[in-house]
Amino acid sequence: RAADIDGKQLATELLERIKTDVEILKAETGVVPGLAVVLVGDDPASAVYVASKHRQTIAAGMKSFEHRLQAGTTQNDLLSLVHRLNVDQQVHGILVQLPLPSHLDPNAVIQAINPDKDVDGFHVSNAGRLATGSPGLVPCTPLGCMMLIKNALGEHLSGSHAVIVGKSNIVGKPMAQMLMNAHCTVTVVHSQTRNTADLCRTADILVVAAGRPGLVRGDWIKPGAVVIDVGINRIQEDGKTKFVGDVAYGEAGHARAITPVPGGVGPMTIACLLSNTLTAFRRHQPWPLLPGNEQGFLR
Ligand code: NAD
Repeated sequence: RAADIDGKQLATELLERIKTDVEILKAETGVVPGLAVVLVGDDPASAVYVASKHRQTIAAGMKSFEHRLQAGTTQNDLLSLVHRLNVDQQVHGILVQLPLPSHLDPNAVIQAINPDKDVDGFHVSNAGRLATGSPGLVPCTPLGCMMLIKNALGEHLSGSHAVIVGKSNIVGKPMAQMLMNAHCTVTVVHSQTRNTADLCRTADILVVAAGRPGLVRGDWIKPGAVVIDVGINRIQEDGKTKFVGDVAYGEAGHARAITPVPGGVGPMTIACLLSNTLTAFRRHQPWPLLPGNEQGFLR
């Protein structure tokens, strides 16, 4: 049967490596990487995410700067906070938690972030860098998926056929770019695609980010495929709330490997946020960019 890709374990290992690098950098330079997270309003789900990011940032040995603004904050006030963080020497990464209250324009806020501190990788400069295969900051969820895929298949993805279900700016599109940069043959399907199931059946790597519980059935999966289920859907079953993915997990036994939900892609996302903060920090500093190790870890 298909092996589970243990995202929780891989995220723990990644966080350990980040922690070690932070300690080395701290000892060698006296500077500590810092992440600023901005939360506007009191959306309960966002508050949980922000608290978890804060906890893990501290656990990785980094500085965490939390900015909680009232729901009625004006666009100008939010933009001036972003501008202050852009020039704050202690802040290497900036994340504005989405969604914002409806009177605020998320795009204007994201584009105001210094692209070199844009640890969510949503700025157009970073999207352009990714599209052209240049070094930059890439969105955390597809970055985590890429690590899980490489863990399952090894570094050599060249020539594999990857099918991505979903074309959002935060998951589907950057995932397609990353897989193309790894020399995969890439097909992107979405809600208007006419033969989604047939296309999925041709995938060596199937990444599903549609937000539709159980959309991908067992007979959509090629035997031996690697399946990455990004979906997180809250459903009611037997009077209980449960989280399930976009793939009918119980029907995927003939896959080579599959990410469970929960415990697959989810845990990698925050670990990748801290990895991006470290990448942003290194780009700011002249010293740690060792030749041939521009993106890698120090040890
Ligand atoms: P989105 O709503 O922005 O995009 C969904 C995409 O799926 C769209 O491109 C749409 O065309 C496509 N789609 C919808 N129904 C389809 C269908 N029946 N067939 C084919 N394509 C279809 O969503 P998103 O922000 O990309 O997120 C997708 C899912 O991933 C959600 O469940 C979300 O909760 C989850 N997610 C998880 C993480 C994580 O850390 N694990 C991070 C981000 C998003």
